[in-house]
Amino acid sequence: MPTALADFEPDELAQQFVAWGFKPSHAARVLRAHYAGQTPPGSAALRLPAGLAERLATVTAPAAELAVRQVANDGTTKLLLRLADGRTVESVLMPDFRPDRAAGCLSSQVGCAMGCDFCATTKTGFERNLTAGEIVEQFLALRREAEAAGRRLQTVVFMGMGEPLLNLDAVLPAVRRLADNALGALGWRQITVSTVGIVPGMEALTATGLNFNLAVSLHAPDDATRAQLLPVGKRFPLADILAAADRFQARRGRPVTIQYCLLAGVNDSPEHAHRLAELLGSRRMHVNLLRYNPTGLSLRGVAYAPSPEPVAEAFAGILKARGLVAHFRRSRGKDIDAACGQLRRRAAEASPAAG
Ligand code: SF4
Repeated sequence: MPTALADFEPDELAQQFVAWGFKPSHAARVLRAHYAGQTPPGSAALRLPAGLAERLATVTAPAAELAVRQVANDGTTKLLLRLADGRTVESVLMPDFRPDRAAGCLSSQVGCAMGCDFCATTKTGFERNLTAGEIVEQFLALRREAEAAGRRLQTVVFMGMGEPLLNLDAVLPAVRRLADNALGALGWRQITVSTVGIVPGMEALTATGLNFNLAVSLHAPDDATRAQLLPVGKRFPLADILAAADRFQARRGRPVTIQYCLLAGVNDSPEHAHRLAELLGSRRMHVNLLRYNPTGLSLRGVAYAPSPEPVAEAFAGILKARGLVAHFRRSRGKDIDAACGQLRRRAAEASPAAG
């Protein structure tokens, strides 16, 4: 039996209440209160029958608790959450340019096995998959942060630690709970799942028929360059990844986002831009250009650097001139450990016990 409320599906908690000898209808109220974050589960305000609050105490251990909080000058807030087994995971709140909104970035795994050469998370390797409840608790923590800052958590992206499509058993239930009107109450369009291109996982997402957004991290316009940056590129060629993205897009009818992190002298030349334009061709996909946050020497010993501004602008200009929709994603939290995995690594270095 789960020990954290966020780990329960609504009908699972209802069945548990029946097993304890109580009406299943109390479960929906308890879960709503937990997701709303206003009332402790056993609170008298919920007017639960005698004995149920005591039973509830056995399933209200927090799935994740705040360990470290960093706030950048631009308002970006990075949370390091400690899980029940002592491991830690990162989540980020990014203020929107609209003063009342914010976006959240969620992790799906502790560490990551993908080995992307420019990523700080990869340096600590893979530890384990997160549970659906641990993903939900990140969302709830970010929503509390947003509310404290006078903002609404408007969108969430699965672009934190881990490869979401290698943990679909937890990511899909978590997404369903975030999009449940009585629980997370996010719209499907407010949720984006990101992948480095795990083709079977992309096909599984398409098969769900769920209407969230998909982002695919390409970071290179050809398989040879990509395989140097992303080892997974040796397993899944670009042609297969884009074919899977086409099928997801055809099913949903809205554009897939292509993520491309510009790295100085690696993937940012005019030739790379033209090759990317050819690769995407007439596909109605949007290109999200990312500015790199340096994380020190990579696993292969490379000191990646962000593309200089004029180079990045020229790259975007070529894509646009060739008819693609391309935008820069704003770089956030430069004065804190903004890159995925940096805060966790630093915390682990400061205290070897931190997971
Ligand atoms: S970029 Fe994402 S998939 Fe790649 S190693 Fe980092 S966390 Fe994993």
